[in-house]
Amino acid sequence: MQKYENSLEFAKKKDCEDVLRDIRERFCIQENTIYMDGNSLGLCSKDAKEALYHVIDMWEKHGIGIWDIEDSKYFLYQKVLGEKLAQLINADGDEVTVMTNTTINIHQGISTFYKPTQDRYKILVDDLNFPTDRYAVDSQVRLKGYDPKDAVKVIKSSDGNFISEDSIIEGMTEDVALILLPSVLYRSAQLLDMERITKEAHKRGIIIGWDLCHSIGAIPHDFKNINPDFAVWCNYKYLSAGPGAIAGFYINKSHFEKEPGLAGWHGNNKDTQFKLLNEFDHEQNAHGWQTGTQPLFSMAPLEGVLNIYHEVGMEKIRAKSLDLTAYLMELVDERLVKYGYKIGNPREDHNRGGHVCLEHEEAYRICKALKDHGIVPDYREPNVIRLAPVPLYVSFEEVFRLVEILEEIAINGEYEQYSNKRTLVV
Ligand SMILES: *Cc1c(COP(=O)(O)O)cnc(C)c1O
Repeated sequence: MQKYENSLEFAKKKDCEDVLRDIRERFCIQENTIYMDGNSLGLCSKDAKEALYHVIDMWEKHGIGIWDIEDSKYFLYQKVLGEKLAQLINADGDEVTVMTNTTINIHQGISTFYKPTQDRYKILVDDLNFPTDRYAVDSQVRLKGYDPKDAVKVIKSSDGNFISEDSIIEGMTEDVALILLPSVLYRSAQLLDMERITKEAHKRGIIIGWDLCHSIGAIPHDFKNINPDFAVWCNYKYLSAGPGAIAGFYINKSHFEKEPGLAGWHGNNKDTQFKLLNEFDHEQNAHGWQTGTQPLFSMAPLEGVLNIYHEVGMEKIRAKSLDLTAYLMELVDERLVKYGYKIGNPREDHNRGGHVCLEHEEAYRICKALKDHGIVPDYREPNVIRLAPVPLYVSFEEVFRLVEILEEIAINGEYEQYSNKRTLVV
């Protein structure tokens, strides 16, 4: 069934009808560049820049007084941002905070919840998650004296692209204490049914945490229904909060009284924090999981860009994202499959994330050629070109042009002039 037409006029018409088309101007679009890498590092926006410059100005003007101005906004900045982020996943405002990076937040979540006993000591993961999640899990079981080979239960993909939800659920045996899974797989863009998996885990008394790195800002989540125990994510991918931006942390309100695994003075109750007592009295909400002083400069851009997200709303963002990726897939089927390209992501809307996973034997060298044509793709071993048409700043016309260039590169074989030697950041 064809929904789209293979012509530049059609792409332009889609852009005219696009309800998000004016939002693109809020972003700093690079000249002569088609940016398809927003799932690795989202583009800078004018709103993010302004928010950051404002904080620098306030520091310049007030010195240490920055903590008090604007009703202590910056002393409580993690609350301001937590409230705003919570809306993207339909969580309560105080169930979300921002701190450190995703990896440390995984350590925070696991060290809070992982209380292994003789019979129940395993952590369940999948073999397609981003490696840092696995490194964190392995080190957490080692800290408790276990061997990851025994205590980390890995659900294997049968084809290297997808994870079967049924096999995850079958893996929830009585020796499993905790589960950590990605909402969307970073390579194949498979979106897991988080609600189903979470409910199955809870039926068996297993704690479950989700890594939203590849869905936050691309897919709306309904945490009131999913109801997981904890979640983590980075804010620099789709959400465009800047390189190394502060990360997100969600903890279900039913766990607010739990002792944080990694404690620090900024997790203390605000009323007594500056009494500087030796006893830790942690705040009974997500901010109780804070550790040290919050890095304002890695937070401010997030405030700026979240204003854009709130203006638009996640529903419209997801609708355009699905439209863009469906359009891209249809053009691939029509024009590129005959040149050895293959779609490696799920096709259905309900289990497809925000990017298209385009496979090709020569993916690495094709990515190099794409860059010389002003296209920023993202290569993932061994054969994947990830293409993320971020709905806030990518147009249908750009998707059309991307496909034309992918076709041209394959026809004239120009990728052959590039070396296959990998660089530091592929
Ligand atoms: C991008 C990504 C990370 C990044 O972790 P940081 O600690 O923020 O660098 C972690 N997990 C997944 C699944 C990711 O996609």
